[in-house]
Amino acid sequence: MKKKDYIFENIKILKGVGKNTARYLRNKKIETIRDLLLDFPYGYTDRTNLITLDKLEAGKISTIKLKVIKYNFPRVRNLPNKVICEDEHSKIDIVFFNSREGYIRKVLPIQSNVFISGKVQTYKGKFQINNPEYISKLDELNKVNKMIPKYNLTDGITEKIYNRIISQVLENIPNIEEWYDKKLISNLNLIDWNTSIAKLHDPNTNKKNKEKYIERLAFDEIFTNLLLMSSNRQKINRIKKKQKVFDDTISKKIIENFGFNLTNDQLKVIDEIKRDLSSRKKMFRILQGDVGSGKTICAFISISNTIESGYQCAFMAPTDILAKQHFISANKTFKNTNIKIAFLSGKTLPKDRKVILNDLKNGRIDLIIGTHALFQKKILFKKLGLAIIDEQHKFGVRQRMNLSKKGGNNCDLLVMSATPIPRTMLLAIYGDMDVSRINEKPKNRKEILTYSKSEKKINEIIEIVKKQIKLGNQVFWICPLIKESSFINHSSVEKRYHDLKKIFKDEMEILHGGIDGNLKEKILNQFLEGKTKIIISTTVIEVGIDFPNANLIIIENADKFGLAQLHQLRGRVGRGSKQGICILLFKESLSQKSIKRIRILKENNDGFKIAEEDLKLRGFGDLIGFQQSGDKYFKFVDPNKHNNLFEVAESYIKQINYQGGNIKNYEFLLKLYDKAEVLNFNE
Ligand code: ADP
Ligand code: MG
Repeated sequence: MKKKDYIFENIKILKGVGKNTARYLRNKKIETIRDLLLDFPYGYTDRTNLITLDKLEAGKISTIKLKVIKYNFPRVRNLPNKVICEDEHSKIDIVFFNSREGYIRKVLPIQSNVFISGKVQTYKGKFQINNPEYISKLDELNKVNKMIPKYNLTDGITEKIYNRIISQVLENIPNIEEWYDKKLISNLNLIDWNTSIAKLHDPNTNKKNKEKYIERLAFDEIFTNLLLMSSNRQKINRIKKKQKVFDDTISKKIIENFGFNLTNDQLKVIDEIKRDLSSRKKMFRILQGDVGSGKTICAFISISNTIESGYQCAFMAPTDILAKQHFISANKTFKNTNIKIAFLSGKTLPKDRKVILNDLKNGRIDLIIGTHALFQKKILFKKLGLAIIDEQHKFGVRQRMNLSKKGGNNCDLLVMSATPIPRTMLLAIYGDMDVSRINEKPKNRKEILTYSKSEKKINEIIEIVKKQIKLGNQVFWICPLIKESSFINHSSVEKRYHDLKKIFKDEMEILHGGIDGNLKEKILNQFLEGKTKIIISTTVIEVGIDFPNANLIIIENADKFGLAQLHQLRGRVGRGSKQGICILLFKESLSQKSIKRIRILKENNDGFKIAEEDLKLRGFGDLIGFQQSGDKYFKFVDPNKHNNLFEVAESYIKQINYQGGNIKNYEFLLKLYDKAEVLNFNE
């Protein structure tokens, strides 16, 4: 009998998947049969062109019935092996590069009849087929002479092997019982799961029909996300914590030192958090605010309240650089208090780390700032009362739940993000949390002037840079790549540095993900101190870092970045009192679409607005800068197409919850999307 569990088995149980194949598949992030099933072909090869040798056309993928006549194995390095074949009309060479003789003798014995399928090419005026994809026996024509799906393959796996594995799996998937009720299915016109999967693997399914099948999976995905969110939320809501007691003594002190007034939105957010801290409910809150909206200060004030009530705080940032900056500004902010602050990252020396760990355990540290190193098992707090994660988009749902668990019941959680999420999706991504939002920017903030220029005008740009440096300003110069690449024609940090070095000499430094942490820190510190004027960098400077004298940012190959990301990058400049300038460089002439996108960027200064506009233009692809975070929220959902599904899924879940929530019905689905933890919801 076909069992449901088949889908969650490891691929090793499949026929034809040995150790090596399994390893290759793992490179493609395929470990279970489920992974195979949810990885759909992106196209197909038409091998239905069954013809004879008198009708060959160069460049066409053809399937031909042939008789093997003669081998020609030159046994000279770099010369290919050839097999001469014929049909009743003519002869053709089947050419093998990098194939062993033994293999060829086995698949193409002399005098045998076979079908060979491959792309017809010409060489010295003669037709030939190089490394044919398919060689099959006469009675197996039906395995070749058809539309064959094309999957994204990795090294080590041929299309033929992959397709054989996939067909095996498709033949064996059990029929899964529908998990939604009939009414929902008919309202949304949803296709059943088995059909959707089968049709999406079937090369004969046309594009238009595909949408319906994808929609089914998209709904599943939205639904499971919302279910997870709703279950997490219920989990959190059941926790009763000790109320935090404070009277703003410390926070008043630090606010006095700011030298500016908090915006109304900051005050509102600070208040929302205060209420959470002093309630019996555990805080699980996201603070959303565009770059430069002043989230950090809200965090610091919440930290001072927490410490005042006798607890410790942990403040985590996704990168060393950013964590270090928070550490520096925390030291400034809290200088007139006796709050003890420490820094911890993966690069902290073992002997220092030991001291810090000890101090944390004994409560000698009030506030620890660092990277995810803060939340390793070995790190124990005496009394952790508030955990804050900056730039949450770099972390996932599971991480915030784990963190909350680790902190214990009395530990409140605040995550912060400048990543705009369209309103419709908010619940599916942050539905387990309460949302605070800062819309208003500090009043003294000038809008950043944004220009676009052709890369050909690089000399003009260099003059602008020179001028800015003369004025005492600093410059970021962003390239998408670290090194030149023979595959992609994008600018690289190393090449640009090399070219500009002649002009700017020691005023320049280089920065990218490959640079050792200590060196990185040194470079950034020198930049902060004004010793260097220009940093040539990849997008590592993207998140949250504050450089008050950086007023010009140049971004090369700007059309390769998502608008939200460009907006975040330009938010790195103009943070002090001077005017910020952003210059977008482009390689070639721009498409209409690119021009529109740039206009959006020039005319808007609100990241959330920009994201919504970009979404309309480009779809979801790079809205959130998934590429860098490697954390894709959805596999099948396209908010442009599936906008309506969010609402439906949400009200459906409300209905389920209302009816007492029989989550067991969705066991298969939850497992399918790795959300099985919902099932152990009462633990
Ligand atoms: P983000 O929300 O992007 O994390 P930050 O918290 O880093 O923004 O704040 C950006 C800059 O704005 C900091 O230099 C901070 O000191 C300053 N700032 C924050 N709030 C205000 C305010 N109300 N008025 C003026 N400047 C502010
Ligand atoms: Mg920030």
